[in-house]
Amino acid sequence: MMQHTSDDLWRDFPKTATEFEARFATEEDCRAYWIKARWGGQPACARCNSRRVWTIRKGTTFECAECGHQTSLTSGTLLEKTTKPLKTWFRAVFEISTRRTGISAKDLQRIMGFGSYKTAWSWLHKLRAAMVRSDSEPLGPFVEMDEALVGGKASPNKELVLVAAEANGRVRLAHAANNDEATLKAFANREIAPDARVVTDGHAAYNGHSLGQRRHEAVVQSKDERRAKDAVQHCHWTVSNLKRWLLATHGGAVKPKHLQAYLDEFVFRYNRRRTDGVARIAARTIQSLVSRPPKILRDIIRESAPYMAFRS
Ligand SMILES: [Zn+2]
Repeated sequence: MMQHTSDDLWRDFPKTATEFEARFATEEDCRAYWIKARWGGQPACARCNSRRVWTIRKGTTFECAECGHQTSLTSGTLLEKTTKPLKTWFRAVFEISTRRTGISAKDLQRIMGFGSYKTAWSWLHKLRAAMVRSDSEPLGPFVEMDEALVGGKASPNKELVLVAAEANGRVRLAHAANNDEATLKAFANREIAPDARVVTDGHAAYNGHSLGQRRHEAVVQSKDERRAKDAVQHCHWTVSNLKRWLLATHGGAVKPKHLQAYLDEFVFRYNRRRTDGVARIAARTIQSLVSRPPKILRDIIRESAPYMAFRS
């Protein structure tokens, strides 16, 4: 059912602020969309799956005619127990999806009129987790690998980020504890096709242990050679885009324990830079909100802990 309706859902999602105001003028409009995304239009009882239900509590809950069970619109979803109207959530989804470069917690707080920064921050993390879907297709057939140090300008500690980039294609980034063979191996096995051809710089840990059977070309370049033709150009471009994005959108103020969540958002947006429009991203985010089990922020953050070899 979810697959069946997903095209309608994104075609039906507003693309401009004016369209948004018209399409989701009331809480009822948002509920109808939510019900379409979650149940294909007609809610079902969470206990017995019956479609014979009626709404109670001003439309936030419905009661089953067969078994009497009460199901809230948001129970069992990422928005379970929210005290805010769906309209507010939809607005936040819209704001996050329409900005090509994303949004900071501070900007979200201002736009939504939230009293506290903490609220804006936790909404942002929740919505980011819903929006960002990992793309599981491994990179290939030509892939560059590299590492970079990323950190705020005020921060003395730079964090290590592993980079893999297809020529003119998709990228993957991982916050890593180090760049030893075992960590690079876990990263390569997770992100790069086993028959891909890999280009790296001369770092010794890129070898038959970390890269396995993949054909590997290690290119040691002088500064002048790199200026003329950088062997890992796509990685370097990715990293400079990443650094600019972290600085421009988030003021460079990213704590190490949240870095992977930001990398995931960057990769998600970057890999869709030519294909997906606002409406598609927003509609998918709402689908993800309705279809994924409730999750507390702590779990979302734990999932984004630095990448270790044992995560392979
Ligand atoms: Zn029932």
